[in-house]
Amino acid sequence: MEWKRVKAELLAIGRVALKGEDCRRFISRSTAGPTAGGEGSVFFSVGDRRVRLSVDPASPLVLHHEGGGKAVISGPGREPLRGMLEVPGLHCPRQAYITLSERCIFSCRYCTVPRLHGRVKCPDEVLEKVKGVLDRVDAVSITSGVAESVPREEAQVLDVVRRVAPLGKPVGVSVYPTPRTPDLLHDLGVAEVKWNLEAATPALFAVMCPGLDYDLMWQALRRSVEIFGEGAVCSNVIIGLGETDAEMTKCITDLTGAGVIPVLRPLLPAAELAAWHRPSADRLLRLLGIQEQALRDAGLDPRRVRTMCTACTGCDLTPGRDT
Ligand code: SF4
Repeated sequence: MEWKRVKAELLAIGRVALKGEDCRRFISRSTAGPTAGGEGSVFFSVGDRRVRLSVDPASPLVLHHEGGGKAVISGPGREPLRGMLEVPGLHCPRQAYITLSERCIFSCRYCTVPRLHGRVKCPDEVLEKVKGVLDRVDAVSITSGVAESVPREEAQVLDVVRRVAPLGKPVGVSVYPTPRTPDLLHDLGVAEVKWNLEAATPALFAVMCPGLDYDLMWQALRRSVEIFGEGAVCSNVIIGLGETDAEMTKCITDLTGAGVIPVLRPLLPAAELAAWHRPSADRLLRLLGIQEQALRDAGLDPRRVRTMCTACTGCDLTPGRDT
């Protein structure tokens, strides 16, 4: 079976039960995004392809760890899939991906971060963490909730970037921006940015992300393409928030037409959407085909991205890397 089909089927389930040898050193615990605060997740790779699966003892998928990272994933009606568990850098393999504020004043309906009231890391702590993994990562990526206010968060992020940029790795940043954030980050030498549209339409965004500004995200995306260049700007869009394929197609082509690489993220049902469903493997593959074509038409290549989700690929089907 082709890898993209295998990965689509794994992503459609999204969870795995762990069996066999001790897996603790392979488990990554998220402090940002919908998986924050759960039992953690593992990165399973086959050659240079990778998928991230949340740890859930009740999952129909079972990962049997044979030791030394060697593992086999099996499940009802599935061919056993042999691969390797990867040791995360910070959050994901080969990157120091840091969450500054593990809390948020906003309350996006699919996100658990606002419920966790986590901590806020200080810039010195971040620098030490990054230095601690520098020899086994290719990039430094920064994300954050909004602990107090958007301008204050921006100031914190800039402070961190000033400290990690001299370490010599490409730096990527994905936070909730102000209109001036792209220029400020660019001036500090940040390589890539990711401003997340999250929902395929403004109407869905208004329902899912109350208090956030869809137009501001577009403004930040457009300005970022002007200064960082086409293909150095990404945007997460969640599949499964109630959008149609036609609406998602328009969102994808709007983004690629503007020089932005879409990151199509299957919904992880959590927080207020805990009873919702993951999108099916067939839908993921259908939208992957549309995304591939749109990227080709726009001359954009996700394989050139060096930071954040497009470089990691754990949670999504990524054209060029998974195909
Ligand atoms: S794809 Fe993004 S959110 Fe998912 S594990 Fe990788 S870096 Fe984290």
